[in-house]
Amino acid sequence: MRGKLVVGNWKMNGGLAPNAALLGELAADWQAAADRKIAVCVPYPYLVQAQAALQATPIAWGAQDVSEHAAGAYTGEVSAAMLAEFGCRYAIVGHSERRQYFGDTDAVVAAKAKAALAAKLTPIVCVGELLSEREAGTTDAVVLRQLDAVLAVLGADAARVVVAYEPVWAIGTGRTATPEQAQDVHATLRARLAKAGAGDIPLLYGGSVKADNAASLFGRRDIDGGLIGGASLKAAEFLAIARA
Ligand code: PEP
Repeated sequence: MRGKLVVGNWKMNGGLAPNAALLGELAADWQAAADRKIAVCVPYPYLVQAQAALQATPIAWGAQDVSEHAAGAYTGEVSAAMLAEFGCRYAIVGHSERRQYFGDTDAVVAAKAKAALAAKLTPIVCVGELLSEREAGTTDAVVLRQLDAVLAVLGADAARVVVAYEPVWAIGTGRTATPEQAQDVHATLRARLAKAGAGDIPLLYGGSVKADNAASLFGRRDIDGGLIGGASLKAAEFLAIARA
């Protein structure tokens, strides 16, 4: 179901003490964005800390990845069922850093989304083009290829995912897509999702979203919120984005 959703991606940042401060501030001030859905995706070891700190709030917590496998001899992997035991609601899959540094292919991303759904987690499926791909005019082809791989595997269950459009050139660079650029890609993705019977899912934008640019992005017709990296590490900034 569409509705405003803002998700923090802490990436590989944090520690018990700084997390306690950040989560404490979120738990104290979440009313600042009470009409929005909010979640934070934290590194695996801190799931239990997020669970404890946020349990009395409507803020959900999630993981930044999940195994495509259900159980067994997959050293270092974490299954969707394990995450679900912590009360995790979301698992990011296909973040560009996973695709770029850890070799997650379109097929692996689709398998991870399927595994997440099987454990009743909501996968946040990330798609996005490289700068060279944008400059070559292949943005739509790239993001639709990434999306189609997931749609092909999920079938009707595609209506239960969240999709995040994250142009790789905008992630952690301070260079944000203009609201027009983001809306154009979102409209393309929305049309493809609608064809697959999933036109009503939340479509997030990610890439250097800050408190001062969030409103212009989130105000666009097909942008339902954001996936926020660096700016999610500061409670006031993150909540200001969530409120935008
Ligand atoms: C991200 O990591 O998903 C992201 C969008 O990062 P940033 O907001 O820092 O660009």
